[in-house]
Amino acid sequence: MHILITNDDGILAAGLHVLAAELGEVADVTVVAPERERSAVGHAITVHKPLRVNDVALPVTAGEPLTGYAVNGTPSDCVKIGVEALMGERPDLVVSGINRGPNLGTDIFYSGTVSAAVEAIILGLPSIAVSVDAFENVDYRAAAVFSRTLATKVLAHGLPPGTFFNVNVPHRPLEEIKGVRITRPGVRRYRDVFEQRTDLKGKAYYWLGGDVLDPDDDPETDSVAVKEGFISVSPIQFDLYKKDLIEAVRAWNLTL
Ligand code: MN
Repeated sequence: MHILITNDDGILAAGLHVLAAELGEVADVTVVAPERERSAVGHAITVHKPLRVNDVALPVTAGEPLTGYAVNGTPSDCVKIGVEALMGERPDLVVSGINRGPNLGTDIFYSGTVSAAVEAIILGLPSIAVSVDAFENVDYRAAAVFSRTLATKVLAHGLPPGTFFNVNVPHRPLEEIKGVRITRPGVRRYRDVFEQRTDLKGKAYYWLGGDVLDPDDDPETDSVAVKEGFISVSPIQFDLYKKDLIEAVRAWNLTL
């Protein structure tokens, strides 16, 4: 079995190295990751300049020394170039992460981590995106152990075409995680989204941030599961169209 590993925090990110070490115990792994952090780039790809690839020795302590490919592109670029040019064979699975910070609810549209998993399903490959609900002093242990468990299951059972798992892990020691919930992505909103500041020339600028609000308090949602100490696994498909509206809108008889 051969797993392609990528992320959006970049080739130097600890979460990537922990994931590569853990999955390296159960499969051959190839790491293809952005040369620098590309969080929140969504599904962007690079078409107006060349992609460059450099070998990087990864500080993976367990097992064999591991070399990764650092790409001057986005997470989606990494999956594309990994599968189409670098690996020499199609991987059995693509795993993206382990991201520093959660990717919950509607935020998955902005996420480079999740977009790498989406790129994999576009290429016809099963995939998993994994994130930890913390930004500071992150302990990736529980997320790494669960990634290995889930990857092993996906390799054994497969996934229906066009689907992947979005996984979010609460930031707590392994033994304090309450279990696993299969969830749906909730709606995420933010309060006080833009902070207005003044630059050195007296001109206003805006910084996007804000406090998260989870208006959806259904225990079936990913956010609530993580808040309550459960690992959240959301099966996601990218079949975006609204089937039951097709006939209704045809009845409008739209013409030029
Ligand atoms: Mn990130």
